Amino acid sequence: MYGLEMKVSMIKRIGLIVSLCLTALLISSCSDSGTESGVEAGLAKEQVPPSEASIPNAGNGVYSRSAMCVTSFSKNGVNAGRYIDLKLHKVMAKCDSVNRYYAYWGYTQSTATLSQWMKSWCTSQHGSTTTIIDADEQQCSSGSGTYNVAAVGYVNKYGDLLAAYNANSGGQSKSAWGKTHYCNFGRNEGRTFTGLSASSCGSTTTTATTTSSAKSCYGDYVRKYPDLLAAYNALGGGQNINVWGKNHYNNYGQSEGRSACTTWPSGDYSYLCAYNECRSFSNRTRRWRSSSVNIISTHSTYYNGLRGSWPVNFNLGSSGGITIEQGYGNWCGAALPLRYSDGTIRGCRIKINYLHDYLNCGVLKATVIHEVGHCIGFFGHTADGGLMDAKANNATGANATTRNMISLLYSLPPGTDIGSRLRGYSRISGHKYSRTNPQKLPPKWYYTAIKD
Ligand SMILES: [Zn+2]
Repeated sequence: MYGLEMKVSMIKRIGLIVSLCLTALLISSCSDSGTESGVEAGLAKEQVPPSEASIPNAGNGVYSRSAMCVTSFSKNGVNAGRYIDLKLHKVMAKCDSVNRYYAYWGYTQSTATLSQWMKSWCTSQHGSTTTIIDADEQQCSSGSGTYNVAAVGYVNKYGDLLAAYNANSGGQSKSAWGKTHYCNFGRNEGRTFTGLSASSCGSTTTTATTTSSAKSCYGDYVRKYPDLLAAYNALGGGQNINVWGKNHYNNYGQSEGRSACTTWPSGDYSYLCAYNECRSFSNRTRRWRSSSVNIISTHSTYYNGLRGSWPVNFNLGSSGGITIEQGYGNWCGAALPLRYSDGTIRGCRIKINYLHDYLNCGVLKATVIHEVGHCIGFFGHTADGGLMDAKANNATGANATTRNMISLLYSLPPGTDIGSRLRGYSRISGHKYSRTNPQKLPPKWYYTAIKD
């Protein structure tokens, strides 16, 4: 037991270290002014150094290959994500004598060339032999299924597919999952990837599971999405539409943000739409993917009163979500939510006037809660005398109406089309919803004015 516990604690610690301090080696291979040119270091002239996973004191045999496959790498100090999600033409290797892990990804060179670069790197930098851990996921794939490099690239190409695979792989390798998705759905949804075509799919397509009966609402689900209906008509093979729809929803649709057999939560959808600005987004909602949102600030006084202020969970002191900084302008506070065309909010900047306490701004924590409200999806300003009015009242917390709106928002997946729940089904022009190719929408600051 001792050994197991130690391993678990080490893995946790490593996770922390990896997420906190991954550094990439930044040596310009093109520089001809320095003395440390690639050629002098024993590297091929065109070779660039690989990115390194910082895992100090790695013990022999502690890290299985599968664990390394999901280790994150960073480039130029920016976290590039887990190795298995990085772009193809990639190689991960270990320089044996120093137990250091390196990766190349997204290169135009072949994996054979990249493997050769790795060997040159380990030799020149560490005088070490090299263990190639993976080349283009040939080794990092797991589960059954014939390996298909194009199918892996296909999944990596589409953000929604990658998210769907990561959420529920059904125990399949990315390769097998990607091929099944492409053949059963993707090719009829207009998705493409070099190397994948009808001939990749053979004469019959497989379905992940079969159920003898399914509720008719799954048929409604298929008919609701034109791409699904087209896929079913072309590839359903005479299968009952409810069964086909249920399989699609459970295996893919749910993770893709689609909805089936919806029982709408009760609530005021018109109010939600008004203050989530759904009319300018094809009647769809915008929210953080998770109802647990990170908040970080250099000034911990801004955290006062945040916990419990809105019906979502805040991880105070954690980065990667909302940031609160000081600023100056003709406002008490300002918020800049970072919205994407798939209905997600992926970041938010808050500025609190550094003269806040000397201006007519009211209680500091009320201003912070107000701005956080903008960050989590309350985009407008009310006129009910409460916290979310444009001129902060002396309210110290969000009122029931605004809290209910946020509760309703987070009970629906990001990008939910609530048009059918609205009175007066008309939508004004605005930003287009895109589930498969999410783009950052033009940013917009929300201000809380200084009171006259
Ligand atoms: Zn405001």
